[in-house]
Amino acid sequence: MDQARATEESAIRILLVDDDEVDRRVIRRTLRRCGLAAEIEETASPERGVERARSGDCDCVLLDYRFPTGDAFELFGELFSQSCAHRPGIVLLTGMGDERVAAEAIQRGAQEYLSKAELAPTSIRRAIESAREKVMMQGALERRSEELTRMGLYDHLTGLPNRRLYFDRLCQAVREGTRSGSRFTVLMMDLDLFKAVNDSLGHEAGDDLLRQVSERLRRMVRDCDTVARIGGDEFAAVLSTAETIEGATVVAEKIGATMAEPFLIREQVAHVGISCGIARFPDHGETAEELVRRADMAMYEAKAGGRGVAVYGAGRMDAGYESALIAQGLRTALENDEMFVVYQPQVRLGDRKVVGVEALVRWHHPQLGLLSPSRFIPAAERSTLIETLTLRVLKSALIQQNLWSRRGQDLSISVNLSARLLDREEVVDEVRQLVRSAGIAPARLCLEVTETGIMSNPERAECIMRALSSFGVRISIDDFGTGYSSLKYLRNFPIDEIKIDRLFVAGLAREPRDRLIVQSILALGHAFGVRVVAEGIEDREVWRQLMELGCSHGQGFAIGVPMDGAAVYEWSEAWARRQE
Ligand code: C2E
Ligand code: CA
Ligand code: CA
Repeated sequence: MDQARATEESAIRILLVDDDEVDRRVIRRTLRRCGLAAEIEETASPERGVERARSGDCDCVLLDYRFPTGDAFELFGELFSQSCAHRPGIVLLTGMGDERVAAEAIQRGAQEYLSKAELAPTSIRRAIESAREKVMMQGALERRSEELTRMGLYDHLTGLPNRRLYFDRLCQAVREGTRSGSRFTVLMMDLDLFKAVNDSLGHEAGDDLLRQVSERLRRMVRDCDTVARIGGDEFAAVLSTAETIEGATVVAEKIGATMAEPFLIREQVAHVGISCGIARFPDHGETAEELVRRADMAMYEAKAGGRGVAVYGAGRMDAGYESALIAQGLRTALENDEMFVVYQPQVRLGDRKVVGVEALVRWHHPQLGLLSPSRFIPAAERSTLIETLTLRVLKSALIQQNLWSRRGQDLSISVNLSARLLDREEVVDEVRQLVRSAGIAPARLCLEVTETGIMSNPERAECIMRALSSFGVRISIDDFGTGYSSLKYLRNFPIDEIKIDRLFVAGLAREPRDRLIVQSILALGHAFGVRVVAEGIEDREVWRQLMELGCSHGQGFAIGVPMDGAAVYEWSEAWARRQE
């Protein structure tokens, strides 16, 4: 290999890759006369060229287009597509009439091209300097954007701002709006058929689609607006240029129209659509959270109504819409940990000692706020998600119990076991495993099942309950008296506890018939030797009467409301002090 060394320290290191010896000689000579302080390395072999270009030892590659084994794009493809932050500038040397090649070279990532026919000291110098400058600039831009991605502000798939940056910009717009009285609109968008594309064409195609969608979105908004990817196929925008609902609606409709155009993904045509919800500052919300929540509600409405675009508050939020929102959100809720567990204390009514807690699930819904289980458990029970949910609650509760016991608080824990789990044999192993890995005595766990749960398949339920019971876990019949055939269960099933439904407990002091029911449940419980727990004790009088009737345990608002795990500790201390 022939090398010519320039003396200056800042010499540009040039790699010349050309299989033609005559061409190499001409180029070398031109280089020497071009006035650049250059250090030239040359090779005829494309393989060696690739290796040297990647070594980091050169600043600029002069690359011939045609080689006996293929063209430069085939042989150096990887080098072209490499990040500019980590490679030399590329000048492609083309032959006569290769204009098409020249254009393609730039498109593929070369910085410059030079026709061998026009080889002159000035043109070669200009090409090299320009390639160096461009690759440095592109490299700096790439590094900057990598840095921003690293700082966690940009989505690396699409390059759009991510959820965090979006909220940052939105909060800024809210502050600015509050200060100056300016108005703006918020757009929440969700692709309509993304999952179908992802499932049928694969994840990589899905990624391609998201990139193309982002590109179209970027083109639809002005520079001073923000468009961001805030979730899988969810996008959001702050339109500071669209101050009116009408203006925002026009933008949203245009977005809808461009998304309705087919996408070409890996030679396949895909159709998706987009649903947009609009909310305006300050009419629909004065905080970022409120605006997002309301634009999101409008978006769901647009989706449910198949209308593409909806403005918050323009349509009616009906019950059907809300339950759709709940059912649709369950899976993500579990994935995103939107659900959490609270604990309600249970005490011995006689000496007021705290004996345990019941775990109750809650859902912090992104649009609807805090939801009680009666609003989403039925939907979860219609799908298999109830299984995941129940096991998740059980796991959290066992972890919490472990934390309490390490702080010296020994509480038994009751967990509601949905009916659907009594239909799956695996549940026995799953419970066993969770209890074992939590390292607690099985008897400190009580599983509450409802009579209706047992009813759907009594034989299977009995079998599962027996297995759980012989492992040592306690079994409780919840809402006792509200289902059917209670007596039969008491006789056949391995039951340790029954809970009197709060419906009867609440009426105890006023309704003679409720008092009779409570009395007979207690009598039954005692006859069968099971613990009876009264639920829903809301006042002292009910408490007094329950004790009078011989009820040993209870829970209810008069004792303690459901609270988070950490609060249980403080609550118990305060409770104990009050009893002294
Ligand atoms: P439940 O098992 O009968 O739970 C007791 C319910 O009564 C809880 O409502 C509790 O907050 C409420 N409560 C407690 N004391 C009082 C009181 O003094 N007065 C009144 N009015 N209410 C009281 P929550 O938490 O809304 O749960 C409702 C139902 O949802 C539960 O009824 C249970 O059937 C179901 N559930 C709760 N958590 C779970 C869970 O993790 N898994 C399953 N499968 N179901 C759950
Ligand atoms: Ca319960
Ligand atoms: Ca109950």
